[in-house]
Amino acid sequence: MNFHVLTLFPDMIRQGLHTSVTGRALDRGLIHLNTVNIRDYSKDKHKHVDDTPYGGGAGMVMQPEPIWLAYEELTCGMQDKPRLIYVTPQGKTFTQSMAEEFAACRDLIFLCGHYEGVDERILEEIVTDYVSIGDYVLTGGELPAMVMIDAVSRLIPGVLNNQESAEFESFQDNLLEHPHYTRPVEFHGRKVPDVLLSGHHANIDRWRRQQSLKRTLERRRDLLNTARLTREDLMYLDSLGWKEHNKDE
Ligand code: SAM
Repeated sequence: MNFHVLTLFPDMIRQGLHTSVTGRALDRGLIHLNTVNIRDYSKDKHKHVDDTPYGGGAGMVMQPEPIWLAYEELTCGMQDKPRLIYVTPQGKTFTQSMAEEFAACRDLIFLCGHYEGVDERILEEIVTDYVSIGDYVLTGGELPAMVMIDAVSRLIPGVLNNQESAEFESFQDNLLEHPHYTRPVEFHGRKVPDVLLSGHHANIDRWRRQQSLKRTLERRRDLLNTARLTREDLMYLDSLGWKEHNKDE
């Protein structure tokens, strides 16, 4: 999987991703990272890449030409034009299922904005997806691009080792994951639930599933409407008053 990032701050992307799990995946060649400095494509003698907005107003806007030249050079050898994700607070909110969809791509290009954003005309020309990481405004697109690259990378086979494996995780089946415990058995007077010490795998699985349902009900009830639930799940949720909650809505 090849990640290409069009950015004004390539070091930030490289340093951020060359650590921990993504760093190991890069070293092992499981994922590739290609950062493209948009400033290198400025024809301005001072290497400017932004200018004041037409119509007036505060802030600066990233100019279309350096981005176009960077994009053209990046994609000229590619047979099919890859998806180009403009990270923007105006996009669809990034989700686990989007990460799964992106993980099936061979190449993905991220465009990171700065200042007030990017001239609309280049966006119209090259962007395939507008994606946000949440309803708040950051100073630049580098952190959102790294968030997405991290979430996509860990879905690439081999990136997570067995100990980190994503067997059941939050958002799988649209449920939040059950709680986790490790040594010691007792911490600050709080004991690990007996069932986890029992060695009885069927009971442990049932307990974890129920915890996952309970947690989703308590924290993200909206997810339950589209979760894949068995008859047993529904009975358990009803015992927690889910039906009653639904009636109220
Ligand atoms: N003026 C823009 C607006 O109101 O939509 C916000 C510009 S923001 C200060 C600069 C850049 O940061 C954006 O072009 C985008 O690339 C990135 N950015 C900021 N917040 C983001 C978010 N929540 N998700 C994804 N990208 C974001």
